[in-house]
Amino acid sequence: MLERTPDYFEQFHCLAGRCPKSCCTGWEVVIDGETAAFYGTVPGPLGEELRASLRTEDGERCFALSHGRCPFLDGRGLCRIYTELGEEHLSGTCRLHPRFAEEYGPLREISLAASCPAAAELLLSSRETLTFPARRTPEPEEAGDPWLAPLLALRGRMLELLGDRARPLASRLSAVALLAEEAQPLLDQDRAEGLASLPEEPVSRPAPDAPALFPGGFRFLRTLELLEEDWPPLLTAAESAGAPACPDWALERIFAYFLFRYVLKTVNDGDLLGRVRLCMFSTLTVRRLSACVPLGEALYRYCREIEHSEENLEALTQALRGEESQIPLAREIETV
Ligand code: SF4
Repeated sequence: MLERTPDYFEQFHCLAGRCPKSCCTGWEVVIDGETAAFYGTVPGPLGEELRASLRTEDGERCFALSHGRCPFLDGRGLCRIYTELGEEHLSGTCRLHPRFAEEYGPLREISLAASCPAAAELLLSSRETLTFPARRTPEPEEAGDPWLAPLLALRGRMLELLGDRARPLASRLSAVALLAEEAQPLLDQDRAEGLASLPEEPVSRPAPDAPALFPGGFRFLRTLELLEEDWPPLLTAAESAGAPACPDWALERIFAYFLFRYVLKTVNDGDLLGRVRLCMFSTLTVRRLSACVPLGEALYRYCREIEHSEENLEALTQALRGEESQIPLAREIETV
């Protein structure tokens, strides 16, 4: 099997007690069956606490949060299960976070969720074009979806266009958006093989009267499921803050991160355009939020609120999909 990750993947280290927005706060962590069974056998006071904290919600076991925190997070921000029982006894979710794997038959792609402050910092720690090296694993290859190869090639082309630093960033972003617009009808007609022969990018400029993305975009975000209490105040502040200056290399890397995470998921439902627009909207929103907080913080707070809610991702993708999109992107792209 082929396994692909972003080039900074191996450099990841959890910030543990130094983490400004720990994954052990705000979210209830799912405890897999094997780990829950082990917790049933742990002796002493910690074992009793583990068993008392386990709840079943929507058919899944998790720890009930205590004042918004995992009950096993100690006063120094360290995990007591990790320190007292060892890393091997964390649930699968805790052990893997912020690594998220997607399997596509012969290909596995693993990203580092930028909702993790350490992962966001790593993404923004280099000015180079982001790359995604692949390596072979000894696992047997499974057959892939027939759309996988053409979509991989198309995403490769998008990343190439994005990484062409001889051009202004706005022109590169527009080129990727237009490529997705051209590709979508082919997918709608189940002609994915035609993706390879799409013409060189067309250039189109938004009409001068094209609607602005913000502040309407922030108002739309307000209608979504709320995960963290400090999110609406950040949206309010960003609404009146205007567009900040943001380095091109950073926006390029953020957009590449989102493209890597979402474009291939098109094999599941054929919605390429909604996903590419989701990646664009996310990048442009993070940029705007960085008028109020540092860019890395803007990135992890956006990702915590949006990427960790299937409901929010779906609502945004729906709103961005199709010609009648409620969320206009073109004019904002021109301002980067
Ligand atoms: S969010 Fe990231 S850095 Fe923070 S505690 Fe979790 S894994 Fe560690």
